[in-house]
Amino acid sequence: EELLISTRDLSVEFKIGSGVFSKKILKAVDGISIDIPRGSFFGVVGESGSGKTTLGRALLKAVPIAHGEARYNDGEVDYDLTTLAGPDLKDYRKRAQLIFQDPYAALSPRMTVRDIIAEPLEVMGLTKSREETDSRVREIAEKCRLNLEHLRRFPHAFSGGQRQRISIARALVSGPQFIVADESVAALDVSIQADVLNLLKSIQREMGLTFMFISHDLSVVAHTCDHVAVMYLGRIVESAPTRQLFDNARHPYTKALFSAIPSLDPDDRGKAQKLEGEIPSPTNQPPGCKFHTRCPFATDICKREEPPLDTCEEGHAVSCHHWQELSENVPA
Ligand code: SF4
Repeated sequence: EELLISTRDLSVEFKIGSGVFSKKILKAVDGISIDIPRGSFFGVVGESGSGKTTLGRALLKAVPIAHGEARYNDGEVDYDLTTLAGPDLKDYRKRAQLIFQDPYAALSPRMTVRDIIAEPLEVMGLTKSREETDSRVREIAEKCRLNLEHLRRFPHAFSGGQRQRISIARALVSGPQFIVADESVAALDVSIQADVLNLLKSIQREMGLTFMFISHDLSVVAHTCDHVAVMYLGRIVESAPTRQLFDNARHPYTKALFSAIPSLDPDDRGKAQKLEGEIPSPTNQPPGCKFHTRCPFATDICKREEPPLDTCEEGHAVSCHHWQELSENVPA
């Protein structure tokens, strides 16, 4: 399996507090190791404040990496993302792109759809003539199932779904290999999310792209992604092939996320563990297992020691002191 993205112990830190002498550090992403195979759809799930968006931004080189390793290798180039700069960074910008899963995200109201999609080509200097730009824009608009007639219009004329296609086309026009698709903080209508997801998935298959799909909603991710990593306060608490995570979630937090999804099976109701309380502030993180303030199974060790990320099965890792005992107690 060839990896497009591979990180080891990746951390992103922000200095917080006012004043030049402020030494307070916020660890938004704290020691993340992930492997994203080429051509896969990799999901990252967590509540707001989990660091999922910052992780995506770090891989796009939009926020600085504080520690750890991060590589990008698409078969054509092999980049160390921690040191990437100059012409290589410029080149990476066309290989890695961000899509907001928010159809109402800013699309300039004064630009035509054609100009919105063409802008990255012009900014990055990827085409040599207006004809070349136009033909590239048309090609990508068709891939995103946009009506070519619409290229002459302005974005306000369109529905949410079409606006979404426009921003996807804009992200794809430079010919990227790696796409980070991040839902906006505002919760989207479920039907719009499903549309976006289906479009992204078909584009991914058609064009052989690699996706990192970031969402707060496990049920959305579950139907699309090959592999899912669950984040909590900057750490990965569980990571597994999607099917495996669905059938055999091990971490109390993942189980709580699953039980928030209404079950169609009456036998499953009542097994739900409700997730109490709020995610602690990333600036004031609890010691030990970061989930202990909300975990119904927390013991003394949980409050003192951070659990390691154990491999429980092939490709399936979990970070919980008690995952083994907890698995035994859960009826099959
Ligand atoms: Fe809960 Fe302890 Fe496991 Fe953390 S380590 S998830 S507090 S049981």
